[in-house]
Amino acid sequence: MTDAASFHTAEIARDEDVLACRDCGLVQSTPPLHRSVEASCCRCGATLAREHRHPLSGGFVWAVTALLLAFPAYLEPIFDVSAVGIHHATRVDGTVTSLVSAGFLPLAIPVGLFSIAIPVLWLACLTTTLAVLLTPARPRWLGPMFRVATSLDIWAMPDVFVMGSFVAYTRLQAVTRVDIAAGGWAFLVFSFAVTAVRVVLDQHYVWEQIMPDTKAVSRDRSLLCPHCALDVDQAHGGKPCPRCGAIIHERKPGSLQRCTALIGAAYLLYIPANLLPVLSTVRFGRAQNHTIFGGAVELIQAGMWPLALIVFMASIAVPVLKLVGLTWFLLSIRARTDRNLKRRTRLYRVIEAIGRWSNIDVFMIGLLTALVNFGNLTTIEAQPGAIAFAAVVVLTMLASKSFDARLMWDAAGERNVT
Ligand SMILES: [Zn+2]
Ligand SMILES: [Zn+2]
Repeated sequence: MTDAASFHTAEIARDEDVLACRDCGLVQSTPPLHRSVEASCCRCGATLAREHRHPLSGGFVWAVTALLLAFPAYLEPIFDVSAVGIHHATRVDGTVTSLVSAGFLPLAIPVGLFSIAIPVLWLACLTTTLAVLLTPARPRWLGPMFRVATSLDIWAMPDVFVMGSFVAYTRLQAVTRVDIAAGGWAFLVFSFAVTAVRVVLDQHYVWEQIMPDTKAVSRDRSLLCPHCALDVDQAHGGKPCPRCGAIIHERKPGSLQRCTALIGAAYLLYIPANLLPVLSTVRFGRAQNHTIFGGAVELIQAGMWPLALIVFMASIAVPVLKLVGLTWFLLSIRARTDRNLKRRTRLYRVIEAIGRWSNIDVFMIGLLTALVNFGNLTTIEAQPGAIAFAAVVVLTMLASKSFDARLMWDAAGERNVT
């Protein structure tokens, strides 16, 4: 182990800053960073700080572009389905209304939140924050507003919705005529703009623009804001962060209990989510049920291998990885072991990043229910298994959010100061 954090380029100045790692809790020193320099934790490899690669204006332009594209993406129909001369055009909100009218409110809520409400709210908060930062004004609400935006980030899923639409489109194309309408193309570009905002925006730099870190806290008194990573004195513990307003705790409070309860509930629901049908196709009064696993098998049988692989990874492999991974982390904390600490921390980062992609099937179910409704001829209906599956996805996402990876290092008795 080295005493200073490792650097990706050699551009290093003399004074040093003190930073605590979000993933393993190690407090370590880094010299002030310059353009295109990234400091990573010397113990677990997490990114500690990255100096602004892009000016704020780039993020602002993409956020405004995404916000403008949201209008045609949400107000125009995305798909046009036709069967025996009947046409059905559906907008994104059609997925929500058709699930509600079919009595699937518990499924309509996550679909509506993740595909419509949260992306719009997230973009609105982000655009407002960046617009104000381009002026000299620094109102007090700016930090809390950017905190709302960054908290909503993983729950804003236009990109996952696009993938769900792609699966729905491919499956439908095999049985009937389906055209991508103007709103569908707009949604695709909208989702691209949303991804561009995420790539271009350097959150650390935005926080520094809202309120610069004074870097005045000594290493042994350092406490990190769990949200904006402001380095504050330990006396701030239990109080709101001066920059973002989040309550500062040394570790996420009640992390283990909350994570254990959420994982337990997810395990229970995992059984009906996989055993019960998630969809049924009713043709001339005859219903055919489909399970999550069956959906992937049907894609293989239809020769759609790449799509089958995506669905298999998102709907089967990722939920299992989340459940098994988080169980492993919780057990290793109980056992106070230091084995595979780095590997576990790395796996935790992967689980946090990919968890949202399990919603592909949730969106696909919502879309197929909305698109295929041709009375006695053919209808596709959501089934109770879909509610259990959506619940497993949300519960495991909440579990990985509530888990504090630093507890693994604490339990192993690792020193937290270099
Ligand atoms: Zn670390
Ligand atoms: Zn903060």
